[in-house]
Amino acid sequence: MTRYIFITGGVVSSLGKGLGSAALGALLQARGYKVRLCKLDPYLNVDPGTMSPFQHGEVYVTDDGAETDLDLGHYERFTGVPAKAMDNTTTGRIYTSVLQRERRGDYLGATIQVIPHITNEIQDFIREKDGSADFVLCEVGGTVGDIESLPFLEAIRQFGNEVGQERSLFLHVTLLPYIPAAGELKTKPTQHSVKELMSYGIRPKILLCRADREIAKEELSKIALFCNLEDNKVIPALDVSSIYEVPLTYHAEGLDTAVMDYFGIDDVENLDLSIWEDIVKRVKEPESTVRIGIVGKYTNLADSYKSLNESLIHGGIANNAKVELKFIEAEDLETGDPVDYLKDVHGVLVPGGFGDRGSEGKIKAVQFARERKIPYFGICFGMQMAVIETARNLCGIKGASSTEFGPCETPIVAMISEWVKDGKIEMRDENTDKGGTMRLGAYPAILTPGSKVAEAYGAEEISERHRHRYEVDMDFKEQLEAQGMKISGVSPDGQLPEIVEIEDHPWFIAVQFHPELKSKPFDPHPLFVSYIKAALEQSRLV
Ligand code: GLN
Repeated sequence: MTRYIFITGGVVSSLGKGLGSAALGALLQARGYKVRLCKLDPYLNVDPGTMSPFQHGEVYVTDDGAETDLDLGHYERFTGVPAKAMDNTTTGRIYTSVLQRERRGDYLGATIQVIPHITNEIQDFIREKDGSADFVLCEVGGTVGDIESLPFLEAIRQFGNEVGQERSLFLHVTLLPYIPAAGELKTKPTQHSVKELMSYGIRPKILLCRADREIAKEELSKIALFCNLEDNKVIPALDVSSIYEVPLTYHAEGLDTAVMDYFGIDDVENLDLSIWEDIVKRVKEPESTVRIGIVGKYTNLADSYKSLNESLIHGGIANNAKVELKFIEAEDLETGDPVDYLKDVHGVLVPGGFGDRGSEGKIKAVQFARERKIPYFGICFGMQMAVIETARNLCGIKGASSTEFGPCETPIVAMISEWVKDGKIEMRDENTDKGGTMRLGAYPAILTPGSKVAEAYGAEEISERHRHRYEVDMDFKEQLEAQGMKISGVSPDGQLPEIVEIEDHPWFIAVQFHPELKSKPFDPHPLFVSYIKAALEQSRLV
């Protein structure tokens, strides 16, 4: 029997609903339950793929090639359950599907309306998960009261009625703001938010109260009284210094116990959370510190590189090291001297990116790391820039560039118009829609035996997630390899370069895919483990 937990948010956005859902998923897993997490996003975009990372943060890519909300990254990082395309939907997607069916004539005779057609489509999305797990945790994006979330709230209300209280739970995340002048945490916004939710017919049975300081017992009781809840169902959720503490702190406050209690499930005596205890211990008591310089474009919104930041931390966890991230605006390197920005880092990393702006700065960063033998990790765009750098500065191909930046003399990185996916040929040209048409999702790669990358993975066949439109041209293989840049990973048909590495360098690996999407704190990605190890060695040299 699948039980459903619907997670809504009130008062303000950015409450950490996604993280809370992921942590609850991990706590249920620790009891031996199979969990699945999904997210309903109220925005109109069909997927977040074309949204600016400045606005929306990172786009998380699933194995099956969907561009999804970054919360799916939290879910996968905390539970290890690979996210799927069907774990995320948006208003845009729901409407697209209903309207396509209307055009096809599936509803002939009917007037198409938000209720029941849109709400039914949302419920179908939720129902699709039935039987796939013991607990389905379904997060509703946005804040209760937003116009856009109304159909979603109506849909989960109806769904809750259909499956009954024994199989559905509404959990509401709210905020208790601290008012310095009064010296108090305020409960009124929470009361109003619950009232608003009740006006849609949804009665939350557990409240997760976010606050930046301890919430007095009387305040918690007051919330329980005013919001019509049992005392043990109002859970304080205080800020913590590492996100990996969240499962432990929520457990200590009784969140998961409250869920078990609500469903009337006998709870285990002593829950084994040693995995999380070990992770937190390693995060909080590192033996050493390394500093990684990330040369990118979206450096002033922390969420733009969410998975990357976490993967670097995971690499640190594996090496008992604290990883300090130094974000460097690529454009600053274009005019300035890279030494000024990179002299104090033990590793340089150029992450995924799009467009011309800052690209010359990234190329300068690659050159700095290559020449000074500082560990270099290039991810997607960071691989393309590394190849351009070698082509220009070692192979002497001065006009080497990417067609992403417009026509160029030597397009060493160019748009791929044809490639093989699951045995079938996929095609695209300049006029193809921008949304959802990149080379997306998991693709296998074959590694060169004895290469550094094969050594890091401890394997010669891997599968990693992709999200790119351009590709290094294999025709330049010989010229690059003659200068020491080896293509050490390729697609199974040998057509597409997946990995390059420089032999005569302590650690210079650049990959066309996004390894950061698969790293977990309890299972750090081998490339990040190996890179942080190299950075640690570098830190001992200086
Ligand atoms: N802009 C590059 C491409 O489309 C790289 C994409 C990325 O880094 N994710 O190929």
